[in-house]
Amino acid sequence: MTSQAAPRRDTTAPWQRAATGANLLSPDGSLGVTIFEEMTALAASTGAINLGQGFPDEDGPAEIRAAAQEAIAAGANQYAPGKGVIELRQAVARHQERFYGLTPDPESEVIITTGATEAIAASLLAFVQPGDEVLTFEPFYDSYGAIISMAGATHVTAPLLAPDFMPDMAALESAFGPRTRVVLLNNPHNPTGAVFPREVLESVVRLAERHDAIILTDEVYEHLTFDVRHIPVASIPGAEHRTITISSAGKTFSFTGWKVGWVTGPSQLVAAVRTVKQFLTYSSGTPFQSAIAVGLDLPDTFYDDIASTLKRKRDILAAGLEAAGLTVMMPRGTYFINADTSPLGIKDSVDLARRLPQLVGVAAIPVPVFCHPEGAERTKSLLRFAFCKKEPVLVEAAARLATLKDRL
Ligand code: PMP
Ligand code: GLN
Repeated sequence: MTSQAAPRRDTTAPWQRAATGANLLSPDGSLGVTIFEEMTALAASTGAINLGQGFPDEDGPAEIRAAAQEAIAAGANQYAPGKGVIELRQAVARHQERFYGLTPDPESEVIITTGATEAIAASLLAFVQPGDEVLTFEPFYDSYGAIISMAGATHVTAPLLAPDFMPDMAALESAFGPRTRVVLLNNPHNPTGAVFPREVLESVVRLAERHDAIILTDEVYEHLTFDVRHIPVASIPGAEHRTITISSAGKTFSFTGWKVGWVTGPSQLVAAVRTVKQFLTYSSGTPFQSAIAVGLDLPDTFYDDIASTLKRKRDILAAGLEAAGLTVMMPRGTYFINADTSPLGIKDSVDLARRLPQLVGVAAIPVPVFCHPEGAERTKSLLRFAFCKKEPVLVEAAARLATLKDRL
């Protein structure tokens, strides 16, 4: 890891080629699926414990599930309004006010999307055009690179540096330029588990103001933080007029399959996102929306409990990974842990991830897939493990991983 790492402007990463469609037609289809799909399929075919793709092995609150069933029974089964059902837009606004003191207008400053994934796609397609640059930290969530590429924009990255995965501020500053149209943040950060402190967010806002860039911020893990409070970048002075915030019900409520997300921000930016959204999905699943409105209004104890339960799970898996001889980079948020496999002599975590299910019966995600080539080199011995699983499952996974050093 070097603190001098330079931002890169890369146009040839494999997933970017995949995003153009070319590699989706490759004879073996090898680049046609995401790493999450690939590793989940591998876990299923080998019977491995799946700590790869991030989804919980227990459903969320019964009252939210019941609300969806009631909505279906009551006939909420036709198209929702394009911007989302009003109960959910109002609940999103109440949630923003309760936790962050932000007061988006449910009529003009909130829209509901088909997961955060659609919100990211609609926002990028709304704001960027060929020739524009979109700046993200690196490693970065996989859909960012794909959508930036589909929008014909250039993806510029600034590195997050292990072990705490904070940005190199000099590299961040030099990654901004006259063509920077959007800075796409992810906080808490997947895959590293970093939670960015106020100073980092303030620097990003200052740089975005200086370069007149839009801030697009993906905060789907907003409630999954450990001993540190999430700060929405929209709450930083100077950010409010240029920030679109994205969140989703998948992580907070453990209903990843429902694909309910939302976008909040100034009405002019939200209207642009809505325009694109109309032509992606038009509207999103009606009965799930009113059910998530019930979820957002759950009492503070619900939110405290999800964080404290996950923290216990994090600690179980972290101890297991350390005992297995890996070096853990302790996350402050999300449900992912990065671990360095180099103490076991591993030099290529992509290769290891493909063999791990057969070797020890555990699946994980290699961190280099979230990077352009230079970042992949910096992270080439890192694996990401998801800990959103039942405690006995994590204990068993740790026991299996403890055998890794003898099986390599
Ligand atoms: N952003 C990040 C950082 C994620 O980890 C995920 C995965 N849940 C998403 C967006 C996509 O969220 P959704 O499932 O709501 O589309
Ligand atoms: N966000 C999930 C993860 O990082 C995966 C979602 C997906 O499969 N696209 O594991």
